[in-house]
Amino acid sequence: MNTTTRPTTAYVPRPIAPDALTRLRDTDDAGRPCVPYVDHEGGSPLRCCLRPVAPGERVALVSYAPLRRWAVETGTDPGAYDEQGPVFIHADPCEGPAQERAGYPFSRAGALRTLRRYNARGQIIGGRLLEIPEDGTRGFDAAFDEAFADPETALVHVRAVEYGCFHFEVRRPA
Ligand SMILES: [Zn+2]
Repeated sequence: MNTTTRPTTAYVPRPIAPDALTRLRDTDDAGRPCVPYVDHEGGSPLRCCLRPVAPGERVALVSYAPLRRWAVETGTDPGAYDEQGPVFIHADPCEGPAQERAGYPFSRAGALRTLRRYNARGQIIGGRLLEIPEDGTRGFDAAFDEAFADPETALVHVRAVEYGCFHFEVRRPA
């Protein structure tokens, strides 16, 4: 991150990691081959770049297991807490989220999110509903403050309530 980046959020929203993206672009976490297509409408949330699809971009809808990926990285066994769900990604290698972030991804006043907390062993230890307020950044910041106030919380998954789909992950700041 360069020094001209203005501080926007207290926590870092993490996109799907590059090595995971490489695998997902071949075979997804449900074992299905990736099927790229051109999205002429746009608007769907891209979990590789943490922004909406722009009309005309080549994307794919793949099944992603965020906790499993985290567990591989950390040498943990997520056991029965492992789950997978649909996410949109760019079908081709991409640049990832912009350095200059303006707030949290996919934030829109009035939208409903769940923030699910996991401990360092990958077990769910709690969660809450968040209705994104007018000041979405402050709303998310406060919700993450609350989540990490529990010393057991190692990471938080943010999901859309209606579709249940994974939006992004936040880890305990080092
Ligand atoms: Zn992307």
